[in-house]
Amino acid sequence: MRQGLGWGLRGAGRIAEMNSAVDASSRFEPLPVRFVLVETSHPGNIGASARAMKTMALDRLCLVKPASFPSAEASARATGAADLLHQATVCDSLAEAIAGCGYVIGASARRRSLSWPLVTPRECGSRVVSEAGSGDVAVVFGPEQSGLSNDDLKLCNMLVQIPTNPDFSSLNLAMAVQVIGYEIMVARGGEDRLQNRRETPLATADEMQKFFDHLERVLVGAGFLDPANPRHLMLRLRRLFARAEPDGNEIAILRGILSAVAPGSGRDHDDRPTDVETT
Ligand code: SAH
Repeated sequence: MRQGLGWGLRGAGRIAEMNSAVDASSRFEPLPVRFVLVETSHPGNIGASARAMKTMALDRLCLVKPASFPSAEASARATGAADLLHQATVCDSLAEAIAGCGYVIGASARRRSLSWPLVTPRECGSRVVSEAGSGDVAVVFGPEQSGLSNDDLKLCNMLVQIPTNPDFSSLNLAMAVQVIGYEIMVARGGEDRLQNRRETPLATADEMQKFFDHLERVLVGAGFLDPANPRHLMLRLRRLFARAEPDGNEIAILRGILSAVAPGSGRDHDDRPTDVETT
């Protein structure tokens, strides 16, 4: 196995810049998952695959007999992921590339005559992440023209197929890398990390009840709500505010507005101008 020796470090400065904007606690731990590209003919696809991997927090790239590597085109297409090209290993055979891996999964655009266990990208993502907990894992991608050979498939535990238009099933190599990498990211909890944390907790049930009581008094006082014939007005308004999921601060603002337009309507609420943040 040959180790890459420092090609195309263009963009390393930009990487440092991008990383500095990231909170260290939100980084992903390195995952022992290598992406193996077999006999890639277009160096641009190698660069684009490196970029796709890095966006998905994967950093082990292995190339089996690439037609042209290192290559200026690969470096150009990698943009900020030149470090993955720099660290990539280059092998003479798939067997060599997957040495030490307990679990090997091959990405295939086509159903094969030889029936091989097939998983979806989603299943592949969770399987790869769980297997990576106990050993090295490889995901293998075939050459652009022919895909993985039957000899390559024999070395895989399973195949993964990205669902596509049945009349046009072959993705660009780097795009297949992106999809599989994305599913690994999802399986690692990448989506959960995106969930916005609330700055202020949701208004509590009793805060909401007091708000609705306040609103009702103002609407009755204004002649908009007839207590003798309320119909479903308050219920509809409850539904509207439930959808908005207001926080405690927002409810305090709304109550401040009600008190401002109908002085004295607050009762349990301080009718003086509030010091809640309105921005
Ligand atoms: N012409 C080839 C496809 C080559 S695309 C064929 O028909 O098999 C290059 C590589 O990208 C494929 O070998 C495979 O590893 C991956 N790939 C492309 N489309 C894919 C798909 N729909 N599902 C899984 N892998 C895919």
